[in-house]
Amino acid sequence: MLLTMRSRLFNPQLSSLCHSLPHSHKSHPSLLAFSASISQGPNSLHASAAKAQRPVALSEAARFVRTVLFLPPGVNPDDVTDDMILPGSNIVLGPYAGDAKIKDVDFVKSSNRPKDCPKDDRPEFAMLGRSNVGKSSLINFLVRKKEVALTSKKPGKTQLINHFLVNKSWYIVDLPGYGFANAPESARMDWSSFTKGYFLNRETLVSVLLLIDGSVPPQKIDLDCANWLGRNNISMTFVFTKCDKMKGGKGRRPDENIRNFLELIKENYRQHPPWIMTSSVTGLGRDELLLHMSQLRNYWNNE
Ligand code: GDP
Repeated sequence: MLLTMRSRLFNPQLSSLCHSLPHSHKSHPSLLAFSASISQGPNSLHASAAKAQRPVALSEAARFVRTVLFLPPGVNPDDVTDDMILPGSNIVLGPYAGDAKIKDVDFVKSSNRPKDCPKDDRPEFAMLGRSNVGKSSLINFLVRKKEVALTSKKPGKTQLINHFLVNKSWYIVDLPGYGFANAPESARMDWSSFTKGYFLNRETLVSVLLLIDGSVPPQKIDLDCANWLGRNNISMTFVFTKCDKMKGGKGRRPDENIRNFLELIKENYRQHPPWIMTSSVTGLGRDELLLHMSQLRNYWNNE
């Protein structure tokens, strides 16, 4: 059931689209520019996606974008129109999107081992990322409550799997951050034995949200993690954090960092995984990410 579910969350038609991609698609920046230029709010996006519109003529940019899109279940590539693409992402909104509001959130439990996690079959999304990537900020910003994610930051709790129940129907799971940059080797989390078991065995895992700092160039530890998840066919979404750091700073802009990252991991993915730009400072990507999560979750619940 697990493998069937996971593979269903990736539309098989997308793989053929992606295989037709040129090897070095340097025009990728246009994807970002194009997606970011779409101005409709998420509700109008949802409404138009749900209405199953008549296909309309696609712009040049949209035609290219279609080759690198993530198509959720229920969407035919030929029916994709500009306004179905979530701004700042490669994610198409499909007929399963809806109920994206978070009304309440309750901390349920911290588990030492994957087998201690809740066993009630509710769908869940696991948040994973390097220490300091902005995971706590993102969780708090998604649920719009301060300090929800602080549990995992308490001393001694850093290696626990924390379950938060949203709207009494699905879970956000806060996983331990990996790669404490300044810790001695012995103090670093043994990611292999601890978290890999969770990914490989958790039947209710709808998608891993792998958080990547969009304000810095691709880091080896994140690439290793993304490649491992890809090779193991774990359903996942790249959530690029700190995308407000667009100007003035040292180094490259988030869109270049993201493009480089996606280029470096693509060999390990059979089709383009969904990705989205976020900022818990400006609010960028919040509603879009929740809509994306809703369509994966609703599909899961309906199958
Ligand atoms: P965690 O260790 O992954 O839980 O990371 P935190 O949420 O504690 O954030 C680490 C640091 O990054 C803190 O100083 C945050 O203020 C900062 N940070 C988190 N999210 C953002 C963001 O979207 N934009 C910016 N500019 N800084 C952020």
